[in-house]
Amino acid sequence: MTKLEIKNLKVEADNHPILHGVNLTVNTGEMHAIMGPNGTGKSTLAETIMGNPHYHITDGQILLDGVDLATKKVDERARAGLFLAMQYPAEIPGITTANFLRAAINARHPEQPIAIPKFMSELNNALDLLDMSQKTANRYLNAGFSGGEKKRNEILQLLMLKPKFALLDEIDSGLDIDALKVVAKGVNAMRGPEFATVMITHYQRLLDYIVPDVVHVMMGGRIVKTGGPDLAKHLEKTGYACLRDELGLDI
Ligand code: ADP
Ligand code: MG
Ligand code: MG
Repeated sequence: MTKLEIKNLKVEADNHPILHGVNLTVNTGEMHAIMGPNGTGKSTLAETIMGNPHYHITDGQILLDGVDLATKKVDERARAGLFLAMQYPAEIPGITTANFLRAAINARHPEQPIAIPKFMSELNNALDLLDMSQKTANRYLNAGFSGGEKKRNEILQLLMLKPKFALLDEIDSGLDIDALKVVAKGVNAMRGPEFATVMITHYQRLLDYIVPDVVHVMMGGRIVKTGGPDLAKHLEKTGYACLRDELGLDI
């Protein structure tokens, strides 16, 4: 088992404080969801865990099995088993999806590059699982892809890279119900004792298909409530404003 621990994390971007002391512990084998209104710092948390240099940690720690990640660059964090499916995946014209994936896999295990036949067979299996065309492999990464195709492509990366901790930032946004089911199938295929996810979402709907063990609510740059899947259902009915009143929050 591997443990990711966020302790009293305070973060700012461009001198603008965004996170005000986030505490979160995730063990491999667990599925977590973070819900919360827009602008509350969810993407900031995911980007900071992954090491985006735009975000500046002013206090607190991010520990992976007790090792502080503060000085580690994005590629080192990826090698350590972290993965971020971004809210807005980038288009990279000039690099095919297959070449990108193979380079990313080999960057994680430089001492032992993946054999091409093994890579091709894993890629074909993953494309099949996600109902994606085999042609995707030779298309430039995300170039001209629809929003839904980009989200699927993030899950393709997840299946191929097999991280320990997957941060999925609004992986459900812009998906119709069929695409949502496919994305959920991909994430559920990763379930196991050596895998954990933190799914960031506005909507309870995603959690009908990827049932979490733990649900956190983030407001005003903090996790203000933690519960089981019922918490998400409750929130869907009552809304965030109601929780804000219930907790007596001034945010
Ligand atoms: P969420 O993902 O929950 O919608 P974000 O993490 O994207 O929230 O943003 C949290 C808040 O921080 C928002 O109010 C956003 O406007 C603000 N923010 C993000 N980046 C910057 C920045 N570079 N400068 C100033 N404010 C920022
Ligand atoms: Mg947002
Ligand atoms: Mg966001």
